Amino acid sequence: KSFHELGIIDSLCDACIALGYKAPTPIQKEAIPLALQGRDLIGLAETGSGKTAAFALPILQGLMEKPQPFFGLVMAPTRELAYQISQAFDALGALISVKTAVIVGGFDMVPQSIALGKKPHIIVATPGRLLDHLENTKGFSLRSLKYLVMDEADRLLDLDFGAIIDKILKVLPHERRTFLFSATQTSKVQALERASLSNPLRVSI
Ligand code: AMP
Repeated sequence: KSFHELGIIDSLCDACIALGYKAPTPIQKEAIPLALQGRDLIGLAETGSGKTAAFALPILQGLMEKPQPFFGLVMAPTRELAYQISQAFDALGALISVKTAVIVGGFDMVPQSIALGKKPHIIVATPGRLLDHLENTKGFSLRSLKYLVMDEADRLLDLDFGAIIDKILKVLPHERRTFLFSATQTSKVQALERASLSNPLRVSI
């Protein structure tokens, strides 16, 4: 099956072709149609499987239908992964001028607050710094968020972000779609799934 046959619109298919994606990977084949139907998903997939595009493409497609600030939030365990994910959104969303902000620790808060003030469509963040901004950056809220992704959830929890993620979940709207990706299914991951997802389907490769 092609990206088009999975339900992806032409401008995003063109971006995939420009990136050299000839055909969807197995996780993309499974996840994209379900995500486009509006389902919450648990993805058992490792880095290298194409999982980033599996969640980014449906989010970008939703954004195109109804553009708005703070449309999607991706939480990732490390700065490096956060930057990789934001690059994927920028590349896949190049033809639709998506605005992405990376909010990670180890950098000055002020330029990040300014970036949030520009109302990006997509935020890719590590949890600690995101919570810091939610608590301290005036005018910043995620009350209108439509999509939440927790990427590498097992690593997020191994790094002890669990309590911080619980606090972030409390200030997100319940009316949202949630995708959780993890390479392993630990009991902590299962608890986070119960706390964050609604009637999810499982996809794995
Ligand atoms: P990920 O598992 O999301 O980290 O992706 C691993 C690598 O595969 C990245 O370099 C992607 O750009 C690339 N990739 C993602 N989807 C496809 C695809 N359908 N065909 C070829 N490469 C892809």
